[in-house]
Formats: sequence, structure tokens, C-alpha cells
Amino acid sequence: MVKVSVDKNKCIGCGECVKICKNFKMVNNKSVPVDKNPKEIGCNEKAAKNCPTKAIKVSK
Ligand code: SF4
Repeated sequence: MVKVSVDKNKCIGCGECVKICKNFKMVNNKSVPVDKNPKEIGCNEKAAKNCPTKAIKVSK
């Protein structure tokens, strides 16, 4: 199972992950995973790599 999380303290609300991957949405200027346990890693890993503050964690 894939686990996706966003560290709210690190997220600066830039919106980059939302642009890259539809599994992220902005809530109160912070990114939140739509599905925290997706079946496939999909675009989540790309979003994590492109986050400027490394706020996104994706583990398999
Ligand atoms: S890319 Fe990173 S800093 Fe930017 S909104 Fe997403 S989680 Fe937050």
C-alpha cells in the first residue's frame, strides 16, 4: 500500500503539487492528499520530488 502525507509545517502553499498531481488539493493554503492510501504511486512521487520544501512524503 502507498502512503502519502504532507507535513503542514513544511508546506508553504505554493500549489506546485496540485498542478503536478490531482491527488493533492489546497485547503486553507496548505496541500492535503485527496487519497492518503492510493493503490498506485502514480503522480504522487513526482509531486514529492518537485515540492520545494520537501513537505510531501510518499512511501511504499
Ligand atoms: S509543492 Fe510542497 S510546498 Fe508547495 S503546496 Fe505542495 S506540499 Fe506545499
